[in-house]
Amino acid sequence: MITYAYPYKIKPTQNQIRQFEQYLSICRSVYNFAHAERKAWIESRKCQVDRCSIKSEYIIPADKPFPNYNIQAKALTVAKKKIPDLKLVNAQCLQQVLKRLDRAWTDFFRMPSRGFPRFRNESRYRSFKFPKPNTICLDNGRVKLPSIGWIRIRQSRPYPKGFLPKQLQVVRKASGYYLVIYFESSESVPDAVPGKTSVGLDAGIESFVATPTQLIKSPQFLKHKARKLKLLQRRLKNKTKGSNNWKKLRNKIAWLHEKVANTRRDWHFKLAYQITQDVDNIFVEDLDFKSWSKGLFCKQSLDSGIGGFINTVLPYVAWKQGKFYLKVDKNGTSQECSGCHAHTGKKELGQRIHVCTNPACLHTEPRDTCSAKVIQYRGEKAVGHTVQENACRGDATGFIQLSLFELVGSR
Ligand SMILES: [Zn+2]
Repeated sequence: MITYAYPYKIKPTQNQIRQFEQYLSICRSVYNFAHAERKAWIESRKCQVDRCSIKSEYIIPADKPFPNYNIQAKALTVAKKKIPDLKLVNAQCLQQVLKRLDRAWTDFFRMPSRGFPRFRNESRYRSFKFPKPNTICLDNGRVKLPSIGWIRIRQSRPYPKGFLPKQLQVVRKASGYYLVIYFESSESVPDAVPGKTSVGLDAGIESFVATPTQLIKSPQFLKHKARKLKLLQRRLKNKTKGSNNWKKLRNKIAWLHEKVANTRRDWHFKLAYQITQDVDNIFVEDLDFKSWSKGLFCKQSLDSGIGGFINTVLPYVAWKQGKFYLKVDKNGTSQECSGCHAHTGKKELGQRIHVCTNPACLHTEPRDTCSAKVIQYRGEKAVGHTVQENACRGDATGFIQLSLFELVGSR
């Protein structure tokens, strides 16, 4: 099964904008209510039965089950009879809100580093979804949304052929409203098989990524706009919170952020195509970028978006071009020598050049390209088919000759 998400900018009428805002506001209140209900249930279970809670909490009967998706969805249909506002929104759209909340909760319990779900204010709730739209909802330059009607879109690219629309999502951004169409095809694509040529990528600190032959620097997107952003943020501080001018200025800041994100994304895709076009296999380190962005390289790694590049953009581009993508073991890639594959001990962060400690090797190379080579070697080993070639070419004679040559050269 293949799924594509195609975003299109939409050109809504004033009436439709009002309708979108109404949808967002009602969906948001449903989300917050359902979230509060779940939270209250959890909190009422925190204190033991024979104690008094220090914090005041709702008392919820002991036999009441946890309000999961099914229970809340049932409660929603009952609530619709009492609250007429809920009928203004498409029924399936509201179900999606509960699903979204449910996903946020399950994600948190599976991966607590994602953070506990929170209440959404206006600026944190920006989209709603229609599942299962009509199959004939697409037309040239316009799309039919359930219960809203035809909406004009700027058709920046044709709809993919042989795909059916499965979901429609309206998103509000600083630059306007967008419609994301999720296309699905039941065809399956066989997984790419490893080819002959390969490249290893090392996520660097100094450079954005390193390949065995070159260091690629990040353009530092946010840094270029930092001055302007700082100025706007300072001005925002002097405005009355919630006033019209405050809202205008805040939108301007959001607009700037969106622009930076778009530029970054564009650059990521171009780079990914450039890296993958001449090789068959792409190997990367299996890194946890979330902890990276919290640590020492916080600002840098968030600005370059390295995590998104390695984990999302690159596999997608590789898949699209039928290339093989694999994550390899990350341990000690910067400690291994790319020449003789001996363990050469830990390096300080400031040490940018790798010098092999093995007297028979003494291989010298920039640190990042060296670890890129190690990653490539590990990937090839994991894939299994090029190891023998390497063994003949490398260890036995090749590297010794090379290192002898280097020794002679250095004397
Ligand atoms: Zn070495």
